[in-house]
Amino acid sequence: MMMEVLIAEKRGFCFGVEHAIEMAQRLLDEGKEVYSLGPLIHNSHVVKRLSDNGLQVVESLDQIGLFTCSCPENPSKPTPTVLIRSHGCRPEIMEQIMQRGLELADATCILVKKAQKLVKQLFDQGYQVIIVGDPNHPEVQGVVGYAPNVVVVAGPEDVRTMSQKGKIAVISQTTYSAEDFGKIVGLIAMKGFEEIKVVNTICRETSRRQASAVELCKQVDVMFVLGSHHSANTAELAQLCKRNGVMTYHLQGWDEFEPQYVEGKSIAGVTAGASTPDWIIQEFVERLANIK
Ligand code: SF4
Repeated sequence: MMMEVLIAEKRGFCFGVEHAIEMAQRLLDEGKEVYSLGPLIHNSHVVKRLSDNGLQVVESLDQIGLFTCSCPENPSKPTPTVLIRSHGCRPEIMEQIMQRGLELADATCILVKKAQKLVKQLFDQGYQVIIVGDPNHPEVQGVVGYAPNVVVVAGPEDVRTMSQKGKIAVISQTTYSAEDFGKIVGLIAMKGFEEIKVVNTICRETSRRQASAVELCKQVDVMFVLGSHHSANTAELAQLCKRNGVMTYHLQGWDEFEPQYVEGKSIAGVTAGASTPDWIIQEFVERLANIK
């Protein structure tokens, strides 16, 4: 009997990631020398394709200085362009790009930009700003730069050690799970702050992917969540499926699949994080559907 494979209604690339990839490709097609500060997206296949087309990944602006030839015998060399990925960055990085005479191509997702502006506004209104999220995630590391003393809460343990003075405003990393954000907000509410303002900055694309995955979990025996092991929203999707009681595998693609994952199963579900290209999903679904 062939495996029945169901696909989540909402899965894969979000508009923020698509926009960043399109911007990178357009700049490369225009013949620009383009540098991305950190990998453009959390997907090695896409990063490799863009790298083959000329996109260079650097970890700091100083590296661009090393690569750039300023010699007079090569005057036609274009000014390097620095591409800010959809996760955004701290404001001072943008300033440094301009000060160094580099070109700035800002692919920060509009929803991340909204969170960055909000942090500043809330601080200006006198709130101590709290962001619930992963302190090591580039989006969070960028957002905290938009106001002084922004506190990152990674989980319940950080709430326990919070001081409890004054008025606070709580926002979330865009890819955080709504369920976990609600729990953290509940714990903060028990701390006795004078005022708590909560702004839901979870991206709708993320929430829709999560809702679709939960819906699919009700219909299948096993779930496959496709995407990089470094992708926060993919990892979150996989955790969510596990919490919904379905055996779940987080795989980068078909090359990580093992036949024992589907032994004794008849219906499999497939979803994918926001940085997973469609062809990876298609290939996985087709090969899985052919398993006997
Ligand atoms: S997941 Fe949401 S916030 Fe992040 S890039 Fe995509 S659309 Fe933007």
